[in-house]
Amino acid sequence: MNKVNATSNGFKCLLCGEEGGYDTIKLKTRNSDHHIVRCKVCGLQQLFPLPTVDEDKEHYDSNPHDRQTTPEFGIEELYKKFEYPNQYRVDYLEKDIGIQKDWKILDYGCGYGFLMEMLLKRGYDVKGCEISEDRLNVIRNRQGNLDRIYTFNLLETGTEIPKELEGRFDCVLSFHLIEHITSPVLFLKKLKGLIKPGGYLLMEMPNISNILMELSPEFNNYNYIRDHVAYYTPELMKSLCEKAGFTVILQKGVQIYGIMNNMNWAINGKPQLTAPSYVAPKCIRWLEDYFKKKVNDDITSEFMYILAEKR
Ligand SMILES: [Zn+2]
Repeated sequence: MNKVNATSNGFKCLLCGEEGGYDTIKLKTRNSDHHIVRCKVCGLQQLFPLPTVDEDKEHYDSNPHDRQTTPEFGIEELYKKFEYPNQYRVDYLEKDIGIQKDWKILDYGCGYGFLMEMLLKRGYDVKGCEISEDRLNVIRNRQGNLDRIYTFNLLETGTEIPKELEGRFDCVLSFHLIEHITSPVLFLKKLKGLIKPGGYLLMEMPNISNILMELSPEFNNYNYIRDHVAYYTPELMKSLCEKAGFTVILQKGVQIYGIMNNMNWAINGKPQLTAPSYVAPKCIRWLEDYFKKKVNDDITSEFMYILAEKR
């Protein structure tokens, strides 16, 4: 358990910048003694106190997220676990976003490069950017080299994008990264520098308006994790992109886990961690289809995406 010293001093909302006070939502997260507080001005829930850059570096160098959820830390198992979610993402990138084969695409924070591999196989011109040594080693093993990978770090204040990459990309993708970032407006302004005028930013992240927050007290506790410094609603995510100077084009829910997984949380108070169900048995597929369409349209799904254009 990560011990921290939370005092009432030093609160500043990482989205609106106000220091006007907060309500405490949780006294600890699932894996640390940080508090979760909600800004009285804009309503953003955030970790408190916020980790420093050094604390984050130490935390992420130990790669706790994956070592915790995958005991054996087998990469092939991890690839298989993410095959369905990544296929789901490829589908919406093609059908909703309309990504094109002649676009230059960057997956910023590409992790192990699994989604990148899928996009490359389908003929897209995609590069990645990753800073974690663990993940870079995996990419080197799977792709044979790091030729398609950049390693510049935009997370620290004071760092800038490489000059030669300014305005280079038609579309920058960022999956499950923004919720880890303590200066999100600044970070998005930097990403904007990589995009061509009229180009796009596509981000996917967890959704605090997820119906499970209400449906399952166990999920509600499980959801808060030291790694996530901010918990966005669809409205707050839109506001963030606008603060960084983007025009928001489209927002939609991303419900990857199936209704059986949600029911497990609601009834048994736990997920299906080892064998998650993404698609319900055929006899109740109609229910699954209705459920996914409904939560995706309302953005009350587990995750959500936002498509924004560089003005
Ligand atoms: Zn605020």
